[in-house]
Amino acid sequence: MTTPLLQVRNVQTHFDIHKKGAFFWQKPATLKAVNGVSFELKAGETLGVVGESGCGKSTLARTIIGLVKAKSGSILFNGEELVGLPEKAWKTKRQEIQMIFQDPLASLNPRMTVGEIIAEPLRTHHPELKNEEIQQQVREMMKKVGLLPNLINRYPHEFSGGQCQRIGIARALILRPKLIICDEPVSALDVSIQAQVINLLQEVQEEMGLALIFIAHDLSVVKHISDRVLVMYLGNAVELGTDTAVYDKPTHPYTQALMSAVPLPDPEAERNKTVQLLEGDLPSPINPPSGCVFRTRCPLATDECAKTKPVLEGTDSHQVACLHAAV
Ligand code: SF4
Repeated sequence: MTTPLLQVRNVQTHFDIHKKGAFFWQKPATLKAVNGVSFELKAGETLGVVGESGCGKSTLARTIIGLVKAKSGSILFNGEELVGLPEKAWKTKRQEIQMIFQDPLASLNPRMTVGEIIAEPLRTHHPELKNEEIQQQVREMMKKVGLLPNLINRYPHEFSGGQCQRIGIARALILRPKLIICDEPVSALDVSIQAQVINLLQEVQEEMGLALIFIAHDLSVVKHISDRVLVMYLGNAVELGTDTAVYDKPTHPYTQALMSAVPLPDPEAERNKTVQLLEGDLPSPINPPSGCVFRTRCPLATDECAKTKPVLEGTDSHQVACLHAAV
């Protein structure tokens, strides 16, 4: 059996929140953005991460890439522990793990040309490269992501949103990473452009054997691109499995509610389906419910759900964290 490229074990990322007007001796509140998430990812595989805004998807991504520090847990990348890795060591590690951000234009420096933006990671990590070699690599990468190399001296504002995301992808790929974390990479794009960017990601993934973590709130997009899916709720993993298992047999009540809102291609089935509406708002991650964090909105909740916190259980292909639903 091949060792997974990424092994995330019981990761917790908490933040201290100082209340407005609080005295300096008062203890800060703790915001549990990620509260014990575990999963594995193999080389060449795509894990889709879904959940409502505020469920901890982006914080999980930023923890994996070291932009925020995990409070506890373990993140093994190619067998090397990333939790507690010194900042100096991260400089080298970030060659292998890259990130693509949601807002393509905002993530690019407006004062740099496209060529400079794509070349920047190369200049940082490979100062030994000559200028002509860098230019050559940048032009090749622009071609690979569908940008004309003769646009190398243009500025980001001269490109469309889809083209800016291609620039972001080229910059992420230029160091030939093993893992790319895509944080809502197509949410800011028109639907027609979304498909182009997703197809591009799949093409480069196949060609370069990349592993992808794909965060999105559009469940149809996640289904299209993912091999496996992780469903998060209030910082916790509530369901994990292959795309077929999670989409065809959603088992956690939260996943069932999410999936019931996905539009069906058959108009007749779409008309007749029942959408399970979630009651109430997402509770505060500063003061999450006891036991199962979903219990305040769950139609199946019992007294036991307030006392016991469920953990992911099941098979390799499908796991669910619920006291009253099993795969
Ligand atoms: S553990 Fe209880 S509250 Fe949580 S999802 Fe299952 S039934 Fe609902």
